Amino acid sequence: MDAQRSIRRQISCVGIGLHSGNKVNLTLKPAPADSGIRFRRTDLGQHEVPATVQHLAGIQLATGLASNEVSVETVEHLLAALVSVGIDNVLIELNSPEVPIMDGSAAPFIYLIHEAGVKRLQAARKYLKIVRPIAISRGDKRIALFPSDHFKVTYSISYDHPLLRHQSRTIRITEDSFAEEVAPARTFTFLKDVEMMRQNGLALGGSLENAIVLGETGILNNSLRFDDEFVRHKILDAVGDLALVGYPVIGHLVAHRAGHALHTEFAAKILEETHSWRLVEAPVDGLVPMAVPGKAAAPRLAN
Ligand SMILES: [Zn+2]
Repeated sequence: MDAQRSIRRQISCVGIGLHSGNKVNLTLKPAPADSGIRFRRTDLGQHEVPATVQHLAGIQLATGLASNEVSVETVEHLLAALVSVGIDNVLIELNSPEVPIMDGSAAPFIYLIHEAGVKRLQAARKYLKIVRPIAISRGDKRIALFPSDHFKVTYSISYDHPLLRHQSRTIRITEDSFAEEVAPARTFTFLKDVEMMRQNGLALGGSLENAIVLGETGILNNSLRFDDEFVRHKILDAVGDLALVGYPVIGHLVAHRAGHALHTEFAAKILEETHSWRLVEAPVDGLVPMAVPGKAAAPRLAN
């Protein structure tokens, strides 16, 4: 049986919120099978916000969730790290609205999850296997999922900037490939946008310690972690946003010039297109998953 997973023990870290600049305590706690990934704002009581498309709120600069006026922001890098390690169930506690930005990548969260350890639970994991293409486009921004025996992502970006006119990469996402080739890629921004965000009271916690900043002709940071760190970070964001579907996806995600708004709109569209996927179990690692007999293909709705 390909079992659902949680973390083995509670673990915490401290960082700052990218937009508020405030110090944030983050704690990951083990959670039971079928409870999913959930957030709790310890500064606002016991109410939990499930990490699902049904709770999407605010997707301009980062991906946010909300339920009963309890909101959490900038969830995507942590979600990408969790799903890449195969964590299906975890309670994430924050004492502030924002997940800490750490170094702008998912690598510190991968480290945190490994420190907590992985626990296999007594329940089968279900995958959402794409059987027919699903696609949306908005102008020249496109995103689609195609049938495939593996989860892989092809991403391409193009900007009017000498360092990233066009970058494209395909990565088959596994725990190892994500940790080595995707997780260390940092978020990036343009210096002209930083100035505008600061004027609007945003990015107050942003610095060269947690983002690649692009000036007119080059980067303000000393170096890149990969020549194509930018497109790798877009893959990271897409993996994190796709986690809001609520199941690991088996399919080939292809995105061009997309962003959080299109990623999350697409995650919601996937759940609506019930004829384009099936829920399956993977009885043996490495084999193509089998259809679950007699189970309706209904999304795991949050309550
Ligand atoms: Zn990002």
